[in-house]
Amino acid sequence: MKICQGIGVSTGIAIGEVMAFDNGKCRIKHRFIEERDTTREIFRLEEAIREAASQIESDRDSVSKELGAEYGHIFGAHLQIISDKKLRNELISHIKNDHFTPEFAVSKVFDRHAERLKNIPGDGGISERANDIYDIQKRVLRRLMGIRRESIANLQYPVILVANTLTPSETCTLSRDNVLAIVTETGGQGSHTAIVASALQIPAVLGVGSFLNEIDDGDKIIVDGKNGTVILDPDEVTIQSYEKQIQRNKTLLEQYSTETEKPSVTRDGVEINVYGNIEFPYEARICLENGAKGIGLYRTEFLYLAESAASLPSEDVHFEAYKQVIESMNGRVTTIRTFDLGADKLPDLAMSKQIERNPFMGVRSIRLSLRNTRIFRKQLRAILRASAYGKVRVMFPLISTVLEYRQARMIFSDVCEELYELGVPFDESIPIGMMVEVPATVIMLDTFVREVDFFSIGTNDLVQYTLAVDRSNEGVGRLYNNEDPALLRLLREAIRVPNMYAKPISLCGQMGSNPIYTMLLLGLGLRDFSVAPQSIPEIKALCRKVSINECTHVAEAALRMETARDVRNYLKAETQKYVGDAFDLET
Ligand code: PEP
Ligand code: MG
Repeated sequence: MKICQGIGVSTGIAIGEVMAFDNGKCRIKHRFIEERDTTREIFRLEEAIREAASQIESDRDSVSKELGAEYGHIFGAHLQIISDKKLRNELISHIKNDHFTPEFAVSKVFDRHAERLKNIPGDGGISERANDIYDIQKRVLRRLMGIRRESIANLQYPVILVANTLTPSETCTLSRDNVLAIVTETGGQGSHTAIVASALQIPAVLGVGSFLNEIDDGDKIIVDGKNGTVILDPDEVTIQSYEKQIQRNKTLLEQYSTETEKPSVTRDGVEINVYGNIEFPYEARICLENGAKGIGLYRTEFLYLAESAASLPSEDVHFEAYKQVIESMNGRVTTIRTFDLGADKLPDLAMSKQIERNPFMGVRSIRLSLRNTRIFRKQLRAILRASAYGKVRVMFPLISTVLEYRQARMIFSDVCEELYELGVPFDESIPIGMMVEVPATVIMLDTFVREVDFFSIGTNDLVQYTLAVDRSNEGVGRLYNNEDPALLRLLREAIRVPNMYAKPISLCGQMGSNPIYTMLLLGLGLRDFSVAPQSIPEIKALCRKVSINECTHVAEAALRMETARDVRNYLKAETQKYVGDAFDLET
């Protein structure tokens, strides 16, 4: 038995047989042509590009139909690349002047562009575009070489698909029924492949490192998409323990499915509101099915997924996505957060030519919006137009000073004015809120409460800025603790001050989705949670089991502790008293 650690990008457990997907590079046999064949070879290239483009188009349409327009955009961007005139001229020039075969020209030119992208410093965002270039290159080469695509779209029996890498197009066309899980040697969080796998709800672990030479087709493996582990050649005891987990998850799901409609009222009668966090419109439906009170955080960064700084989403692309969510919420509230780009999320859209030494401290999020008001206003206009179709709140991310908030609000008022003059309908009393994710903001909350309609605590960022720990740096991962005593004290303030001024305060960081922290947060006075769609039933169920009095004792005891480890062990033990073995409290 061997345990490999990768990055869990789509949750769920699978036990099954491996199918290795060899999608490596096409081998180019002939590199040069006779001069007299130039015209014919250029024709062959043009033909292959045309066919590849038409296949991309059809993938775009079917993916948009099945998964939503924002996934279709991935292929929209591919289409733009393959139709690029400069790229085509570059290829033709190699055939004409260097007498390359079209295959060799495609291999050279696409490799060069992909390498250039890979060498731009920064994290995954830009180098992920290199994967897109390889995807298109493969399509054109397959056409030129007459290679029929190895079919993973029509698998005959359930397998765990393992590969060095999977391109977005390969992932999009997977059959959901017969792919139990995906494991790749390369890739990571935020990649198109990760995003699509999670949309398809297929458990996936990426970036495992080289392991393909250690397995054969038909070998049994276990994939744990939540923890990012892949177990090769598992022993009987391990298989049984994972089978038990699968069974437990199934039972919980069945149990919850009958409870989602129940309100979450604590044993002593206090109503707790549980909202959902979403990134894609299709997730709104999952939130509703799981009993969400509304959407507490709609992250809009992913609308920029397939775009480059040169082709940002149009106002209508924004509008359609928001309208779809708002309408599907049937009168429940949708909280739309303006774009939080830069740092770890799509850094190539940071729209700054300057390489940031420390992107998390740099021009990200609201800072980027305030420097690029044209793009910011476009998004605000779309949100306002969509507000005519249901109940909407707008929220600014990463506000760190009062002036910053005022500036954002001023731009917002200006856009309202503009729409008003044009006679475009929108909700004129739309609430405007902000995220609380910077320690300075917590300290200044008594000032913010006078001008802000509602708040939402972003613990993912609050932890990193409080503890000086980069949330995406594995090297300091052990220091990144939601339960650090310093964070607990900040949270106490972040909840106490808005409550004192009767301003709505919720928490939408990942901490809220983990039941270990539910009693603590209730004890600190939190009544509104916004959590991952799949966590909604679990958090609601736990709220129903406890009383506020018990939670207050738990919070007081936790606040007296000195180390994160003590807090964690204590919270786990307390939660276990109410849920027994029913919840997975390990992670
Ligand atoms: C957070 O920081 O907790 C949060 C919800 O925002 P994001 O994870 O999108 O930065
Ligand atoms: Mg954040």
